[in-house]
Amino acid sequence: GSDEISKVFEQEVAKADLQDEVKIVRTGCFGLCALGPIVIIYPEGSFYSRVQVSDVAEIVEEHLLKGRPVQRLLYDETVTDTGVISLNDTNFYKQQKRVALRNCGVINPENIEEYIAMDGYQALGKALTEMTPEQVIEEIKRSGLRGRGGAGFPTGRKWELAAMYHADQKYVACNADEGDPGAFMDRSVLEGDPHALLEAMAIAAYATGADHGFIYVRAEYPIAVKRLQIAIDQAREYGLLGENIFGTDFCFDLEIRLGAGAFVCGEETALMRSVEGKRGEPRPRPPFPAQKGIFDKPTLLNNVETYANVAQIILNGADWFASMGTERSKGTKVFALGGKINNTGLVEVPMGTTLRTIVEEIGGGIPGGKKFKAAQTGGPSGGCIPAQHFDVAIDYDNLIEIGSMMGSGGLIVMDEDTCMVDIAKFFLEFTVDESCGKCTPCRVGTKRLLEMLTKITKGQATMEDLDKIEELCYYIKDNALCGLGQTAPNPVLSTLRYFRDEYVAHIVDKK
Ligand code: SF4
Repeated sequence: GSDEISKVFEQEVAKADLQDEVKIVRTGCFGLCALGPIVIIYPEGSFYSRVQVSDVAEIVEEHLLKGRPVQRLLYDETVTDTGVISLNDTNFYKQQKRVALRNCGVINPENIEEYIAMDGYQALGKALTEMTPEQVIEEIKRSGLRGRGGAGFPTGRKWELAAMYHADQKYVACNADEGDPGAFMDRSVLEGDPHALLEAMAIAAYATGADHGFIYVRAEYPIAVKRLQIAIDQAREYGLLGENIFGTDFCFDLEIRLGAGAFVCGEETALMRSVEGKRGEPRPRPPFPAQKGIFDKPTLLNNVETYANVAQIILNGADWFASMGTERSKGTKVFALGGKINNTGLVEVPMGTTLRTIVEEIGGGIPGGKKFKAAQTGGPSGGCIPAQHFDVAIDYDNLIEIGSMMGSGGLIVMDEDTCMVDIAKFFLEFTVDESCGKCTPCRVGTKRLLEMLTKITKGQATMEDLDKIEELCYYIKDNALCGLGQTAPNPVLSTLRYFRDEYVAHIVDKK
């Protein structure tokens, strides 16, 4: 409803003859999806939530004309005994640290000048005029930034590898094919701060010796695609893409390629095939993209959130970035918080924040006072974190140790009523649907696995089937060609590890 609300605001502001004093800015997502549509009145920052079209006239009349905030529409948590507090002091925001999401919900993403006003393109200027490509790579390496798309490969090392190969043509690419159920981190950056991505890709191109870029984005994100195209056009107009950027001899331009919704196209080798206009199927590695990527040319590929950190690292320095997070996982991580949680939305926290903080403090707990049972991280490739690990510091290594994985950042909370076998089945159904069919362990194996899980939920399985399920999971993991198949059994394995009794109960109950 935000679009309509914004139009009505414009009409009401004009009616009140305030159009010279009040500017209406449409921004990207604030993160608090559960409370939308949201309106913030500056300079004081009064935060109105769940605004309806019918509320607009009252806000204009009371707040803008008479200076009296409409109490009934203010977000409860911002109204305290001492008056109205800033949104940043509410439970949802005060534990967050917004680096990748710094401009989301703050600037108008369709206006390059608003991005520039927030120090936008300064990092690119600094890199081009004060740093050598080697220094840029060294800065990213020292920052400790790791790929936010799932695997957590050190970003600086990846850039170094891409820079190593020489060719007549090199590319940088962005994986914006966010396909995990429940994940919308990249979407928020694309819709709320598209220039952050363009700036970072230009820096990456400078560092690795590329002059052309591709952003591979899902066609199901029409607003993201539209805003990216506006951002590209504006950056060209301002001389920030194209030739002789910042008066140097550095040239770089990029284009958008639309994905048609296949989850497997988020896998890097499949993505590159798809960018080339071919069927998006993975291929074995090596050769890695740094050596042979898009059109067989050396290619650097990072995901949206990884790029969203880059300009801040160049501007504020590697030490600043490395001061956040844990020993081996630096910086922050964006999570899409969903499932049985009060504050559904996007949160960005320093690495090492516990699940308890995310669920209870930032997420506002579980609806109906229900008990926390588990959280699924990493979507269909990840696993669950049960209540006994509620206080584990979330970082790449800890999550792997407890049988889950960071993944791209989907975090789905489950309460005491959730059946964990159903959860495993849900994610497996997704991977069966999305398997590209190229290799047998994944094409056939996940299908057989799903049949066995269905047998369990129908009460037709035996304890022997449980052992067979486990065996098949490891077979698929060890033999599938790409990450989709290799990680597909994870939800089954992690629920079996922590909630085996529920699988057994399905078998025993029905006997
Ligand atoms: Fe395709 Fe699955 Fe094999 Fe990957 S693991 S290549 S998705 S069949």
